[in-house]
Amino acid sequence: MAINAPEGTYDLLPDRKLFWEQFKQTARDVFGLYGYLPIETPVIERTELFVRGIGEATDVVGKEMFTALSGANLQKLLNGEKLPSKSRLSLRPEGTAGVVRACVQHDLVPQGAPPAKLMYAGPMFRAERPQFGRQREFNQVGIECLGAEDPATDAEAIIMLMRFFDRVGIPQESRVLLINSLGCATCRPAYREAVRAYMEAHADELCETCRERMELNPLRAFDCKNEQCAQVMEGAPKIGDHLCPDCAEHYDQVRALLDVAGISYVEDQRLVRGLDYYTRTVFEVQTVGDDRAQNAIGGGGRYDKLAEDIGGRPTPGFGFALGFERCANVLEALGHGFPRARACRAFIACVNDEVRADAFALAQVMRDAGVATELDHQGRSLKSQFKLADKLGALAVIILGPDELAEGQVRVRNMNSHEESLVLKDEAIPAVLSIL
Ligand code: AMP
Repeated sequence: MAINAPEGTYDLLPDRKLFWEQFKQTARDVFGLYGYLPIETPVIERTELFVRGIGEATDVVGKEMFTALSGANLQKLLNGEKLPSKSRLSLRPEGTAGVVRACVQHDLVPQGAPPAKLMYAGPMFRAERPQFGRQREFNQVGIECLGAEDPATDAEAIIMLMRFFDRVGIPQESRVLLINSLGCATCRPAYREAVRAYMEAHADELCETCRERMELNPLRAFDCKNEQCAQVMEGAPKIGDHLCPDCAEHYDQVRALLDVAGISYVEDQRLVRGLDYYTRTVFEVQTVGDDRAQNAIGGGGRYDKLAEDIGGRPTPGFGFALGFERCANVLEALGHGFPRARACRAFIACVNDEVRADAFALAQVMRDAGVATELDHQGRSLKSQFKLADKLGALAVIILGPDELAEGQVRVRNMNSHEESLVLKDEAIPAVLSIL
């Protein structure tokens, strides 16, 4: 039986792969206007980074992480030996922890330095139950801004993400921006306790998962998809009533800056996001009119304690990530035209076998001149060669025939207008270039 890609993963075939490249380029263009530079961190990191950074009680770390094992370590494990924590590796479930680890490791934010503004793009891995818009391997584009606590950082990054969605073709009418503040180490513990106590009082109305969450991670109950839990959590204490003055002021300023920039948003006090590291601002962008569970196309927030949690010096941070596949799904639903990957721009067709050596040599000259060129290597008829040229996306075809070649000439055909002209062989390249 043929072997297919593992469940929850998929192949980026050439057309989609081209779109992914363009999508990343748009991100580099837009985020570059705001001073973000690309960074690439490993796809595997020490498991401990995610446990300490994202939190063991989160679904992402507690249930959904893929562990990576070398052959030797797998053998040790099978022999019942314990692995030292250093050799426990995981495939990254998200990008922030790795980027913050890199900033700490390379001291990218020395004391008194301006913030480090970094962007990344690449695959993330979560062992979730696959469904539409939810894969086990998916691609994210994200940014992290480390070293700035100012609310302007939060607002700037959110505005930048809205600009990105505009550019990529997901218009304002198709999306909604939800924002909230989760408070800080001063005010959140008391809020968390208030939610826990509320849940305890309503424990018999909550699902089993929420009852488990009650002790470990009560705020996650706001995310429960169970109707009854959602109803119970409607009545839970609201974070807005528990923010300390500094957090309330920070949140006010973020909103004020978004207002001035004309960015519309909806405040959602139930927005907690799944990861433990968030402090203060959190936000999510969802598609509107889409009642599927997987309607979040991007999200992020502030994480002022993360650098410390993974052993660095205190460094405030803000970041977001957006999902490429979910954005592509939305664009598809909006009727967006996707690019077609062209294998070549010019094609050389042979009238008969006599001219094949000339075609082979001319193709090389064309490629050396920077024109992506293809030709048939399978002895196709002239008609089939034209079909192939079309399939490969050629915009111009050079037709080599023995009679024309004897006169030092070739035919050049414009594949869009179907016009054909006879030109000197030496002028074939300029003639093709005028069509491309
Ligand atoms: P998160 O880190 O969970 O906030 O994810 C950020 C974005 O990545 C989400 O808004 C989604 O667009 C995308 N995303 C997260 N998990 C998945 C998944 N399992 N499959 C596809 N896209 C995902």
